[in-house]
Amino acid sequence: MTTVNESNITTETLGFQSEVKQLLDLVINSLYSNREIFLRELISNASDAIEKLRFNALSNEDLYEGDSDLAIDIDCDEKARTITIRDNGIGMSREEVITNLGTIAKSGTKEFFGSLSGDARSDSQLIGQFGVGFYAAFIVADRVVVSTRRAGAPKGQGVRWSSEGQGEFTVEEDGRAARGTEIVLHLKEDASEYADAWRLRGLIKKYSDHISTSIRMPETGEDKTGRETVNTATALWLRSKQEVTDDDYKAFYKHVAHDFDDPLAWVHSKVEGKLEYTTLFYIPSRAPFDLFDRDVKRGVQLYVQRVFITDEAEQLLPRYLRFVRGIVDTKDLPLNVSREILQKNKTIDTIKAASVKKMLGLIEGLSAEDYAKFWSLFGRVIKEGIIEDVPNQERIAKLLRFASTHDDVETPAVSLIDYISRMKEDQKTIYILTGESFSTAKASPHLEVFRSRGIEVLLLTDPVDEWVVQHLTTFEGHNLKSVLHGKLDLPGEETAAEKSEDETPLEVVVRLKKLLEGKVKDVRVSQRLTNSPACLVADDYEMGLNLQRILKAAGQEVPPTQRILEVNVHHPLLGRLAGEADDGRFNSLALIVYEQAILAEGGRLEDAAGFVQRINELLLESAA
Ligand code: ADP
Ligand code: MG
Repeated sequence: MTTVNESNITTETLGFQSEVKQLLDLVINSLYSNREIFLRELISNASDAIEKLRFNALSNEDLYEGDSDLAIDIDCDEKARTITIRDNGIGMSREEVITNLGTIAKSGTKEFFGSLSGDARSDSQLIGQFGVGFYAAFIVADRVVVSTRRAGAPKGQGVRWSSEGQGEFTVEEDGRAARGTEIVLHLKEDASEYADAWRLRGLIKKYSDHISTSIRMPETGEDKTGRETVNTATALWLRSKQEVTDDDYKAFYKHVAHDFDDPLAWVHSKVEGKLEYTTLFYIPSRAPFDLFDRDVKRGVQLYVQRVFITDEAEQLLPRYLRFVRGIVDTKDLPLNVSREILQKNKTIDTIKAASVKKMLGLIEGLSAEDYAKFWSLFGRVIKEGIIEDVPNQERIAKLLRFASTHDDVETPAVSLIDYISRMKEDQKTIYILTGESFSTAKASPHLEVFRSRGIEVLLLTDPVDEWVVQHLTTFEGHNLKSVLHGKLDLPGEETAAEKSEDETPLEVVVRLKKLLEGKVKDVRVSQRLTNSPACLVADDYEMGLNLQRILKAAGQEVPPTQRILEVNVHHPLLGRLAGEADDGRFNSLALIVYEQAILAEGGRLEDAAGFVQRINELLLESAA
């Protein structure tokens, strides 16, 4: 809708995008527990706008319009119940105002809404994390007026945006708008407490102290009419480590990571020499909602001489460290560095390699308690590093934790080093079993001989584990071997079952092979079983059942493979089969043995109805 008022100003009324409406609804109706975050969000935007101007002015000084004293100014009026936040940064054009303050442009909006819990406190945290911070203004205001002029636009050609947060906003010309952006919050009655200079100073100190731009407020004290800077206003990472307190580090983390919780750990380092750069990296204490999206855009921020350049994730750290937040600042890149330059730049490569080492060092140094937390949050992502970062593979392998038959506890807590320290005297191999879930893995018949001989097996139940073990074939000189594949070469005394292995094929095995032709590749006497009658194994280099299942679930075509049926000739059922002269009975019993082996590993029967019928016949027979 367009209207023209008496001073001939055209006002356009537009509707918010539906996601914004949904968000505003949430902001207005449920975010009362953490209301003060509105200021942090608006200051963060003002600071971004100033960084953007500084960056653009590098190639076009005129944008400063003679005023390069960049700052954020905050004022309040108790009587009028308003707060004003002003920056002389980049500002916005009319089109930018409409897109930036009317839609959510970010990809991942769906995920964001999907991850909302309905719990006001954690949802309000997500808002900041997702970066839809501007709308936080409506937590405390029932009317927001934004006056802005894009740097470079002629004076007199500003824009005014205004909304009550109820589904629509208006846009009109604003001839008086100064360069940059001014936001006036008309506070709700129950938020009047924020129109208080001391309250605002407190919030600035609490949330925005580390912003490298000055945040100014009116001077305090009688007869004072000037303005003073309220925040420390130096880039925290450039201060010496001795000067920075833990609280400073934590506050800065909340700013860079858009998080409310303290980080789990951080590492701050300055490198001086041929290359000069500073890094400050944090491990969050909770996982971002888009952790498993390998294409997340935002990550560690790159600064060149304190000027923000980019936060495109992959530039500075590999994908398997995408949960890391923080900054890299260097003097050794040109300020006008482009994305293309970054992708093949020696300086960046050097910083990246050193940063990975720094991060691995930080992770390795975590206390046992923090490590357990870290692994539960980010372990699945770290595992990707085994595949992705071959030069550091050995180091990453030491970080891995698995469930194990050692303690049969589901929480993955056993490292490869732990495993090796418990190996049998003549054991050379690290045994693993991959499966769909901890409960099926731990009950697998393939573990029987290992359990009876006290040989530990690692239980791997993350889908990514299948790829991890394809890329990690040895660790510290020990081969990793799946207990589901091939023949076993177990350390120590041979069991009776193993001894009988080399003997001429038993008659029962020959009969089974004939019967199951087309279903299995081979039938042989098992070394693996002590209690179960039979199990299925894959050949050494064949795809296992678990991987097939994962690939099928992902919609991939999986070539059919036949597996090997191993039978436990010491099991009474096999004894009965051996003594069964009637071919019909032999066949139905043998099929049941085969089908049981499929069921025991969580597989699906091709002919489930036939199986049920065969079982029922057996039951009736034994009842008769
Ligand atoms: P984010 O800061 O994560 O991009 P916000 O919701 O906080 O998300 O802001 C949306 C967009 O509005 C910003 O990306 C920016 O383009 C624009 N914007 C907000 N505040 C300002 C400002 N003070 N100056 C210039 N642009 C702004
Ligand atoms: Mg923002």
